[in-house]
Amino acid sequence: MALECINGKILHVDLTKRTTWVEEPPESFYRTYGGGSAMGLTYILKETPKGIDAFDPANVMTFFTGMPTGLLISGQSRISVNAKSPLTGAIGDSQSGGFFPARLKHAGFDGIVVRGKAASPVYLWINEGEVEIRDAAHLWGKQTHESEELIKQELKDTNVQILQIGPAGENKVRFAAIISMMNRANGRTGMGAVMGSKNLKAIVVQGALRKKAADPKALTELFLRGTKRIPDTPSSHGLHVDGTAGGVGWQNFTGGLPTRNYNEGQFEGHETIGGDVMTNTILVKRDTCFSCTIRCKRVVETEYKGIKVEGRFGGPEYETIGTFGSYCAISDLSAIALANQMCNQNGLDTITCGATIAWAMESFEKGQLTLEDTGGIDLHFGNADAMLKMVELIAKREGFGNILAEGSAKASKIIGRGTEDNLATAKGQEAPAHMPQVKRSMGLIYAVNPFGADHTQTEHDGSIEETAGEDARLRMSQIGMTNFIKPGVIDKERSKLVAVTQKVLSCVDMMGLCSFVWGVGWVLYFPAELVEMLRAVTGWDLSMEDVFEYGERRINLLRAFNMREGFTRKDDDLAPKFFRPLQGTGPSKGIHYTREEFEGMKDEYYRLMGWDIQTGNPTPEKLAELKLDWVVEVM
Ligand code: SF4
Repeated sequence: MALECINGKILHVDLTKRTTWVEEPPESFYRTYGGGSAMGLTYILKETPKGIDAFDPANVMTFFTGMPTGLLISGQSRISVNAKSPLTGAIGDSQSGGFFPARLKHAGFDGIVVRGKAASPVYLWINEGEVEIRDAAHLWGKQTHESEELIKQELKDTNVQILQIGPAGENKVRFAAIISMMNRANGRTGMGAVMGSKNLKAIVVQGALRKKAADPKALTELFLRGTKRIPDTPSSHGLHVDGTAGGVGWQNFTGGLPTRNYNEGQFEGHETIGGDVMTNTILVKRDTCFSCTIRCKRVVETEYKGIKVEGRFGGPEYETIGTFGSYCAISDLSAIALANQMCNQNGLDTITCGATIAWAMESFEKGQLTLEDTGGIDLHFGNADAMLKMVELIAKREGFGNILAEGSAKASKIIGRGTEDNLATAKGQEAPAHMPQVKRSMGLIYAVNPFGADHTQTEHDGSIEETAGEDARLRMSQIGMTNFIKPGVIDKERSKLVAVTQKVLSCVDMMGLCSFVWGVGWVLYFPAELVEMLRAVTGWDLSMEDVFEYGERRINLLRAFNMREGFTRKDDDLAPKFFRPLQGTGPSKGIHYTREEFEGMKDEYYRLMGWDIQTGNPTPEKLAELKLDWVVEVM
């Protein structure tokens, strides 16, 4: 294979038959699908039977890197995991960074396709092209740090990279995460539960098969150019200094910090849980992903009521501080850091976990849940002990935790009593900590995104409002966005922002890139440099048009899966809460969507995407335009 940035090899695993084989696709496969979830969907759409349960062994699961993964440039070591989601019933999609994605590439494979279910727990051992399915019965039931140690001892190698599930995945908690390095998570859409349903405890990789860019000199120049920018670029320097948690204060100032289960936009306790507080109190180190100079990851050490929070479990991101903090009205940073640690030990998505507990807290405050339901746990807002107890019970699926392990949308169906009115979800997935009432474009992307509410799939409003800095304006103009959007106003320009930036960020995802470096916020590079980088990596004559086409192809593949499962326009919706005026204090008080403006945004978005406005689904013509004719056939 002429392309030196990839291995040209995809590993196939049939757990039922306990067999593996290697596929060597032609370069045209990489040229068309790029990597990540677009590649994964080419297998899932063809092989996963329509309408199956997400825990059926026939639910094909894919793990794909991108073409730049494992090369020496910031923000390239990411992996996408896909399968039908047990949380939403739609396509599942989740990315994570760290060192595993680069090491998988160095171990000789660009991606893995997993089918079937092992008769007993196993793990996959991939060592420089050699593959073994090994027994994992002794690892079953172990938390991530325990399995990590046991696997390293067993393989006599402390330097292997491990992607694994914890007890939550084994117990099929519907929002179970896949964890690497004990602190990085493929968190969203329950991919850890799918791994658990397959009796696949872990994937372990080792290797030094370094890949090369087509133009190494150009890539190095780009790497150094970005690195030199960090001290003078407030957004990337801020991300380095205070991590994503540095956003807490600003979000609160704008009335956009979801508080008490998304009923308010300002939290009175925000001053004790922000990134600056973390930096000045419990932060002991800044960590990074393979070859990234930003180093935005947190390492914290603290203690909550005698329980140690250890550095190896990382530290809470902005989202985690939101869901376990302001969503639950908890202002104790150590309690939040402990919740983060427990999620990383057990393999839980911190967003859905914290948000589901917040939903239960609101239901409890309204008397829709009682002490009898919760097993005697006082689930009032602000009760950190109760929040931590629920994390433990959810991971074990014990007591009331067994109901919350379904996620808030499914739990509300079990409980009823009006609790569905308290949901803050889209397509059954809990909303991240960026409020659609304040960042008005978020509501649209939460609704139309194929895998439910997700804040990384569109550019955030501030980048294209009149107050945006010069760099932000230049970035937007490079992707054809030259008009400002007016804060709070819902018009066609807003739908355009979502449609255009979703395509760019979709390309970022499928290429295995970090959206801080190459996407949302564009803290280090410009869109034109994304094209420059992809050209240096592949040697192909790529343009911004190709970036749009790649991104659009991925979105259409994901949407096609949902279409086949019966999803239509009516599923592109937000929970009723988002149509009610926000309570509390601050500039967002009283804001909400009207049904009319929300449906109008969707009409314009579908039009811009070239989809059927009545159904919200891709048309055969659009699929053909994207070289996806085969999708029409497999539908
Ligand atoms: S910006 Fe942060 S999350 Fe992204 S690659 Fe760098 S260290 Fe990892």
